Amino acid sequence: MGKVYLVGAGPGDPELLTVKALRVLKSADVVLHDALVDEGILALVRPHALLVDVGKRAGDKHIAQEGISGMLVDFARSAATVVRLKGGDPLIFGRTAEEIAALRRAEIEFEIVPGITAAVAASAQAQIPLTDRDGPRSVVFLTAQHATGRGPTEIARFAAAGSTLAIYMPNGHYSEIAKQVIAAGLPPQTPCLIVSNATRPNQQLHWIEVAQLQFLSLPASPALLIIGSVARRREDMISAISAVCAANETDFKTVHPEL
Ligand code: SAH
Repeated sequence: MGKVYLVGAGPGDPELLTVKALRVLKSADVVLHDALVDEGILALVRPHALLVDVGKRAGDKHIAQEGISGMLVDFARSAATVVRLKGGDPLIFGRTAEEIAALRRAEIEFEIVPGITAAVAASAQAQIPLTDRDGPRSVVFLTAQHATGRGPTEIARFAAAGSTLAIYMPNGHYSEIAKQVIAAGLPPQTPCLIVSNATRPNQQLHWIEVAQLQFLSLPASPALLIIGSVARRREDMISAISAVCAANETDFKTVHPEL
């Protein structure tokens, strides 16, 4: 019997893999990966290891979740080290619970290696916090399904509580999300940030307001939407820094050299 590693690949940049994820990938006999996992990370797998793309792309024929769980069990019975590689963190919107249940049922040893989730990567790339001592004290990870009221969680509750909202899989749901949060009492001017392809060479940042969400041309996938005062535009940050510099008679560039 082999061992299965449920591994988080992080948001894309191979340097954001954990040391453990890298070690496990380099020793894998079989790697079952999502469509979201970056080519640069797959390139780290040993050349003779078997790579299986179990990614679910819209429109394509896809392997059902039960099929993936079944493959994990079957491979673990014949291979030494099996890696199930998922974008971001395996335990955030990753359907890993179903795989864990299947592995437990089959009495196969497994270990979970966390990864950097998209919301955390996006905020780092935008250089904004998700929580703030003088602002939101909490951050909520939602999917657009939760956000638009078709899931078990209502976005209104979290928006009204003043939490930063980090919304996964928002594409196709921007107008509905805007409607819901405005109905929950957020001002239409509430800052929003959309980060697509966070940490990848084709990364894009869109700084807008809630009211503009419905007029947005569709950002590239994968994209993550952050709503809340922490998502204030960089220009605001720049002018705030300039103001502090002017008040202190310090040179702007020495305070924030990369701007
Ligand atoms: N387990 C993953 C999330 C899987 S759901 C994680 O922890 O990040 C897939 C969604 O994650 C995408 O639709 C998108 O909303 C988000 N996502 C994943 N990688 C991303 C990236 N590099 N940039 C922006 N969003 C990303």
